[in-house]
Amino acid sequence: MEPKKATIKILEDVLEDLKKGVDTAIGNYLFKGYRIQVSRYKSSGTERYMRLYRRRKDMGLCVRCGIKVTRKNPNTNKLYRLCDHHREITDRKN
Ligand SMILES: [Zn+2]
Repeated sequence: MEPKKATIKILEDVLEDLKKGVDTAIGNYLFKGYRIQVSRYKSSGTERYMRLYRRRKDMGLCVRCGIKVTRKNPNTNKLYRLCDHHREITDRKN
C-alpha cells in the first residue's frame, strides 16, 4: 500500500483512533518524509480479508476484484457488492 501524505491533524486523528482501539487507524502515512505504518500485529488472514471486504464494500468496489461497481440492486437501490462479471459467475454457481 502506498503511503498517503498526512498532516499533523490526520496523525492526531490516527492517535485518537489508536487510543480508542479502532481499526480506522490502520494505514500508511507519509509525514515530512517519514513513513508511518499502522497495522495489526500478527492479524490472521481472515481478519485481513474481512477488513479488505469491508473497505471495498464501503467504497462501492467489487469485493472480489476491487473495480468500481456502477450497477445498483433495483430492490434495495444500493450498489451491488460485486461487479457485473463476478455477480454473473457467483449467480451461476447458486
Ligand atoms: Zn469483480
